[in-house]
Amino acid sequence: MRMALIVQKFGGSSVADADRIRNVARIITDTYKAGNDVVAVLSAQGDTTDDLIDKAAEINPKASKRELDMLLSTGEQISCSLCAMAIEAIGCPVVSLTGWQAGFHTNSGYGNARIKRVRADRIRTELDKKRIVIVTGFQGINKFDDITTLGRGGSDTSAVAIAATLRADLCQIFTDVDGVYTADPRLVPNAHKLDEITYDEMLELASLGAQVLHNRSVEMAKRYNVNLEVLSSFSGKPGTKVKEVVKTMEKTYISGVAKDKNIARLAVVGLKNSPGIAYKIFSLLAKSKVNVDIILQSIGRGDTKDISFTVSKADREVAQKVLEENKDAIGFDHIDVSDDIAKVSIVGAGMVNNPGVAARMFEALYNAGININMISTSEIKVSVLVNVAEADRAVRVIHDRFYDEIGGEQ
Ligand code: ASP
Ligand code: MG
Repeated sequence: MRMALIVQKFGGSSVADADRIRNVARIITDTYKAGNDVVAVLSAQGDTTDDLIDKAAEINPKASKRELDMLLSTGEQISCSLCAMAIEAIGCPVVSLTGWQAGFHTNSGYGNARIKRVRADRIRTELDKKRIVIVTGFQGINKFDDITTLGRGGSDTSAVAIAATLRADLCQIFTDVDGVYTADPRLVPNAHKLDEITYDEMLELASLGAQVLHNRSVEMAKRYNVNLEVLSSFSGKPGTKVKEVVKTMEKTYISGVAKDKNIARLAVVGLKNSPGIAYKIFSLLAKSKVNVDIILQSIGRGDTKDISFTVSKADREVAQKVLEENKDAIGFDHIDVSDDIAKVSIVGAGMVNNPGVAARMFEALYNAGININMISTSEIKVSVLVNVAEADRAVRVIHDRFYDEIGGEQ
């Protein structure tokens, strides 16, 4: 095998106990012994991060974000040092580094910091000494030299940032599933693993609630053209490759069906039917940093219209509040809020050249007696809003309807 630089990231379940850490050490050292340079990025063991959050709450439920980050960053330090010890036991040269030793510079946003740059000199020096480098995921330092964390699930993003900085040949994300599936296998028994998927499809699936990769990691991988692979640390089987263009794209035009329950719908009812109303509503929401997803405007009775839109559940209260506060300026009758909805989407990069995908999706829902509340489409996806109680069934009937063509050859 040609010598390559490979970044390998291992999630919390892959390093949960001593045996699993030994297993990870074996994967890393096998890659190293095959002649590659290896940088491994680790998450905290199992539920460690949750446990640390609980510990903090016990002492002070209002602890500052700075101190929380100081605490949470320790989880990764434990898994990395233990893994380095396991590699020492195997007899390979290794060094573990914290986020700051590895050169992760972030903005000052404690708890959800963004990576500004990775000054990877230390990592490079260690690689030149032919050492395996183990780096703590999920963390860096800000301009005050304080420890910051990148937000839950942020280790994926740490790994991709190192891969981008070092121009690694491959960034492997090891987890407890075999790869990216055409639908949640717990929900859809005949869902199957995808061999390949494009960055854009992966971004859609991630943001639609198929929680395989941290969204920011996929965005970064796309921007820096990092070859990603999602695979299992347990099975030893090939995983799913995430890249710019997949070779089967011409044939495969549907990659997956995803569900997102984390949304709420607001309907602003009885708006005047005059220009500027949508502008007023959505600029107010934008100013309050509310992210709006699907928007639907409909003609109401007489001279009025309604505008409905969806937001994440976390943004619902703020959205409602800012609109109510500006009720007179906007001019509406009332706001109708609904929480018991879910978004179900079909995603595929080849969809744009295949008319009729939406029609067949709607047909499948119609045959199952599932009512559609709202629809939105883009070049690579069609999303519908359905009642939350019917969401799982909707995923199944849509997946069944496209079974023969979803995810390419099986
Ligand atoms: N340990 C952190 C978390 O649980 C980061 C990660 O797992 O990626 O969110
Ligand atoms: Mg974790």
